[in-house]
Amino acid sequence: MTQVKQLAAVSAFLQRDHGHFINGLSQPGGGALRPVIDPATGNEVARVHDGCAEDVSAAMAAAQQAFLGSWSEMSTLARGNLMLKLADAMEQHREELAQIETLCSGKTIALSRGLEVDQAVAFLRYFAGWAGKIYGETTEISLPSFNGEKYRGFTQREPLGVVVGIIPWNFSIMIAIWKMAAALVCGCTVVLKPSEFTPLTMLRVAQLAADVGFPPGTINVLNGNGGLLGPLLIEHPFCAKVTFTGSVPTGRAVGNAASALAKPATLELGGKNAALFLADMSVSEMVDGIMEAGYVNQGQICASAERFYLPAEKMDEVLSVLIQRLSQLKVASPFEEDCQVGPLANKAHLEKILKMVARAKEDGDEILYGGYSPERPGYYFLPTVVKVHSENSTLMREETFGPVGSFLAYDDEEKALQQINNSPFGLAASVWTHNFNKAIRYSERIQAGIVWINMHTFLDPALPFGGIKSSGNGREFGSAFINDYTRLKSVMMRY
Ligand code: NAD
Repeated sequence: MTQVKQLAAVSAFLQRDHGHFINGLSQPGGGALRPVIDPATGNEVARVHDGCAEDVSAAMAAAQQAFLGSWSEMSTLARGNLMLKLADAMEQHREELAQIETLCSGKTIALSRGLEVDQAVAFLRYFAGWAGKIYGETTEISLPSFNGEKYRGFTQREPLGVVVGIIPWNFSIMIAIWKMAAALVCGCTVVLKPSEFTPLTMLRVAQLAADVGFPPGTINVLNGNGGLLGPLLIEHPFCAKVTFTGSVPTGRAVGNAASALAKPATLELGGKNAALFLADMSVSEMVDGIMEAGYVNQGQICASAERFYLPAEKMDEVLSVLIQRLSQLKVASPFEEDCQVGPLANKAHLEKILKMVARAKEDGDEILYGGYSPERPGYYFLPTVVKVHSENSTLMREETFGPVGSFLAYDDEEKALQQINNSPFGLAASVWTHNFNKAIRYSERIQAGIVWINMHTFLDPALPFGGIKSSGNGREFGSAFINDYTRLKSVMMRY
């Protein structure tokens, strides 16, 4: 099958001196150069300057100035129109953005186009549609009237100010757009901090935003070491809110830093998501469901399932068909059009997953398929099937964030439900059955921010998304995001 040819625009972009995007301009900055590694080859494809305290000050000052000036002076509909123009520009540059994303993250080119860029565009348009639709309320006031005077009160929603958005490496455009678009449509401005592993795509998106007319300072991108820049950004006096997507330990540090200063924080963190298959599903339906829930993008989706609960009587047959299906997937360069298994996103992640598989063996789990890297350059790891015998196995408790499905047999649905809820996480889950009565009842009992029925991992901009327990707080999408990016101002009058 054909290998995608690198666009001239991508080659030219990679050659540039990269750093940050501040106040409407690409600004390399003077920090140490960090290599960007293509995970499919292990080769360096670009270099990006790390940011420092001066870059943080410059980005925050630019964002604050835009927040108080050009962005707040623009009508809400004009803001929405700019967001729509950016969506159009991203669509026009779809292939370019997809190729840059695949180079940095190893995502297959098909997923970079169809999921990363197309979904980012869809979410951006959804949020743009909220422009002019963010309302307060009027209210009766019950104060006594001595001389015929009357009262009226109303609330209005005010933007919080400069929002710091901290982004992981798994969907470097789409997750950045979730945060950026929610902030912008509420009237906030943003400073985005991409992952060290995927620093390039949002630099390109920010340039497109400047090209379509976003005022300087509305969208800023700051690259570099999260451990250094994160606290500086959150503690900066102009930071009004932080919205973070990433791992639980980093999320806790972010939450603590924000709460110490009484700043609001939205935390979208990791999970150990469960998929419960009831015995009325056929073997092939179960296998289709498992492939959808656990193995897309090599499992590097926060909502992917990693714990699978199967009826004991069907377990062995399901796993044998699943292994057949997985063994037929094409392992290839993510730039091959028909690649189905690309590399993991970075070396550190591969090493973490290899360690977790080693621990699974110590726990007595059976690695039935995969569990190792195939012989080829880059950070590849085969889709893996593990039969576990206890809910206490490491693989049933800790997130791999990779293509490692852990399968536990159950005899009793009630017990399976208890095991699903016996987890520190609560991001997502799914129930698979033709018995809708049970599906709805079980969805009510499963402790997770989202429960899918006969589907898994699909997100829609109209449906709020976010975790409970250690998986975080706050909700993105729907109308729920409005609370997180605005504050209520009350006004009372006498007449
Ligand atoms: P990570 O926590 O290592 O890094 C996330 C971001 O935080 C990066 O930009 C990093 O530079 C920055 N960072 C690091 N230290 C920081 C600090 N002290 N203060 C502020 N920022 C800091 O996560 P990752 O490895 O990039 O992403 C994988 C994780 O993200 C997985 O656990 C996955 O489940 C989670 N995730 C969750 C969701 C969700 O919506 N719930 C979505 C995608 C990914």
